[in-house]
Amino acid sequence: MTNSTSTTEAPIRVRIAPSPTGDPHVGTAYIGLINYLYARQRNGKFVLRIEDTDRARFVATSEQEIFNSLRWLGLTWDEGPDLGGPYGPYRQSERTEIYREHVELLLTNGTAYRSFETPEELEALRQRQIAAKLPPRYDGAHRELSQAQIDAYLAEGRAYTVRLKVPAGDPAFTEFRDELRGVIRFEHSNVDDQVLMKSDGFPTYHLANVVDDHLMRITDVIRAEEWISSTPKHVLLYKAFGWEIPRFWHMPLLRNLDKSKISKRKNPVSLIYYRQAGFLPEAMINFLGLMGGGMPAPTTESTLAQPAAKQSETDIFTLPDMVARFDVKNIRLGGPVFDLTKLKWLNGEYIRALTPESFYAALRETILSDAYLQQIAPLVQTRIETLGEFGNLTHFLFADDIMPPAEVFVPKKSTPEETLAFAAEQLTVLEATDWTHEALEPALKKLGEEKQWSVKENFMLLRAILTGSTMSPPLLESMVVFGKSRTLDRVRRFLETQKKLAQTKK
Ligand code: GLU
Repeated sequence: MTNSTSTTEAPIRVRIAPSPTGDPHVGTAYIGLINYLYARQRNGKFVLRIEDTDRARFVATSEQEIFNSLRWLGLTWDEGPDLGGPYGPYRQSERTEIYREHVELLLTNGTAYRSFETPEELEALRQRQIAAKLPPRYDGAHRELSQAQIDAYLAEGRAYTVRLKVPAGDPAFTEFRDELRGVIRFEHSNVDDQVLMKSDGFPTYHLANVVDDHLMRITDVIRAEEWISSTPKHVLLYKAFGWEIPRFWHMPLLRNLDKSKISKRKNPVSLIYYRQAGFLPEAMINFLGLMGGGMPAPTTESTLAQPAAKQSETDIFTLPDMVARFDVKNIRLGGPVFDLTKLKWLNGEYIRALTPESFYAALRETILSDAYLQQIAPLVQTRIETLGEFGNLTHFLFADDIMPPAEVFVPKKSTPEETLAFAAEQLTVLEATDWTHEALEPALKKLGEEKQWSVKENFMLLRAILTGSTMSPPLLESMVVFGKSRTLDRVRRFLETQKKLAQTKK
């Protein structure tokens, strides 16, 4: 066993390490929950680390939204960027010096090397490999440069990356133990000489993750199974540094109903969506606790697929119940299905269990909050003659589902097919656009120009999808108030439903 060195004595420390690249993801909360339970049951510490080294995908508001969403669910952490702690800083962008020093250690002990190829050279290599039907990977050309050659390149001022030197020779594989799966072996012929530090001096995920897990004294790495293929690289890094290897637990990925990896095209994946759409945090965390199992007398896969009326009450438990009764031994590896019908059923159970006072309070904290109503009121004040008309004009901002009939959304000059194809283009544009009036307007207009849809028809289509009507308060302002995740969900659901309708007509 490669990682048999004992970590059992060390106080338990676990972490989640989300990257602030967009809306907080349901997967982050699911993995966060398992880490939280593991730590709370063992008197351990739960660390929140922000992995923000990918500057190209960085989203400024994302970190705060991650904090808000985890707190909303009751998942409190012990150390993190906002709380501090003994092993900070907890934001990777504030630790670049630490990574640089560690890369030097690897260069010195020969477990990493500089690779001076230009991006163009690497691209040419990739193209050659693709043409030869080989898996694209670095060919190791600079693994054994002479010191004189390295010095010459450095003197020239050539840019370089630092790569992991995956050991040649015996043994030709790396093994590690996954606590849920047993020993996993990767042949070195399948492990790339991973870039550890990019030419801009920023570390890659692999280096920063291992250095931080070590320096933050993480005993158990509990993360999603999509990271299994990275783990041999991590194990090689621990060995290269001469460090103790933590325990690894790779949790089964959340899946769509069709068993594909959970994706926003098939399920809302933003925690902001669930909060804004009026899911109760107790229901959400309960639902996440059902994913992957872990509770005694776990529900079977088939229960998950049953109609709502047949769901069993043993599926209902609170976060403290989970702390008391969750057991990693009960985790099931079959992909847990993120079944929205089940989540809605659970949410309904929680709503019915509220006292009238707390039900009212829940409404006033969410879809009837002062903050929300204050944003809506100015959109309608000049457009109504009685206060009662407020409801007529704004119900789409409170409703869960809106489905305009074809005569509302298909413009006279267009066919249903063309209209739906254009709506799909609108969705793609909306997904990539900042959620402000200033950003949305030009982005949508540009799309209209490209596809030769008039501004009027372009905006009318979106208005119909969002509001179910051709008359509404100003469109972009309404979208901003409704929020990005709920608007996108509405457009996706619209497209999904229309697709199904078209299929049944065939
Ligand atoms: N930054 C990675 C993520 O976004 C962390 C993966 C890990 O836990 O090692 O999920």
